[in-house]
Amino acid sequence: SDTIRALGSSQTLTDPVSVIKELIENSLDAKATQITIETSANLLDLIQVKDNGFGISAADRPLAFKRNCTSKITDFSDLNELTTLGFRGEALASAAELAQKTIFITRCEGEPVAEVYDVTRDGSISGKRPIGAPLGTTIRVEGILKRLPVRMENALKNTQSLIKRLRSLVATYYLSHPKCRFGLKIKGQRDTVYPPSKNVPEAVMKVVGKEASTQCEWIDTERYGIKVEAFIAKRFADVAALHKEWCAPYIYVDGRPVAANRRQTTITIIWKMYRTYVKAFSTAEDARVTNPLLYLHLRCPGMYDANIEPGKDDVLFDNSKALKIITLVEDLFNAGSSKQRF
Ligand code: ADP
Ligand code: MG
Repeated sequence: SDTIRALGSSQTLTDPVSVIKELIENSLDAKATQITIETSANLLDLIQVKDNGFGISAADRPLAFKRNCTSKITDFSDLNELTTLGFRGEALASAAELAQKTIFITRCEGEPVAEVYDVTRDGSISGKRPIGAPLGTTIRVEGILKRLPVRMENALKNTQSLIKRLRSLVATYYLSHPKCRFGLKIKGQRDTVYPPSKNVPEAVMKVVGKEASTQCEWIDTERYGIKVEAFIAKRFADVAALHKEWCAPYIYVDGRPVAANRRQTTITIIWKMYRTYVKAFSTAEDARVTNPLLYLHLRCPGMYDANIEPGKDDVLFDNSKALKIITLVEDLFNAGSSKQRF
């Protein structure tokens, strides 16, 4: 049964980057304004995420690493109006399950000291002691995937691409929470720090550089009860020229980053559409650009099901909503064609 559990865990947490993603989401759900991620060079020996959020309450501590234990929703219908990134109560349980050693440090408002807890593989607490630490939570996972040798081998072979994904992951969360400070320290590499920004355009500038972001404009509009915030190219040709190397579309639904690589989901259709526009309006030389800069944030709580992918990184709209969204975004891409955008 130990193995069956480990296999289940590996469905959500397939590699160290997906573990870090879950830890970042937990920190954001705890209203952190500072999140620091620290890892070993191979991302496997050590993963640590430290935040200054509201901490894990004393009552929740014995449950936090237990499967299906979440403090974020109390009944099924809450799923329709999620205000948090997490809702399954699975991530910490899976992390502990797949790690050699897990500890957490937490301190809530009003508590004189922090405490450090040792967590067993089944998510129980096997020991605790006081420790000096500021308000917030630190989760430290050592030897992740050691028990799944094939996964581990695979991760070891792909360290460079995992690091690339990790960097883009941190930028992704920063752009949806620009007021939060993000730090990324990978052993042996230069630290990345994203300082708090006033707004998305300022944060984009910090991620992609000033030159690139001045080619974009901020758009804020609403239709059919769907709010859209976008930071997109004034002229697609310029942005295409600037973003040969850029790889991540920053697309969000109500603060949740969504992936644009599945077949025929609303988000993938939008991304393809954007790329088609960029291609169409690029010069021949830029035509090979496949990943131009896009920040697109849809705000439409209650209009979709967020519980469809293990990684919680896609949402399902019903057909009529999907059509509205696609029309709205298409108009947005089109709007500039008569004005300055193209
Ligand atoms: P979920 O996020 O789906 O609730 P997790 O397994 O990710 O499930 O986390 C379990 C619980 O642990 C959360 O519901 C929350 O109460 C608590 N928790 C985890 N990380 C943090 C954190 N960084 N700050 C405060 N509470 C946390
Ligand atoms: Mg979570």
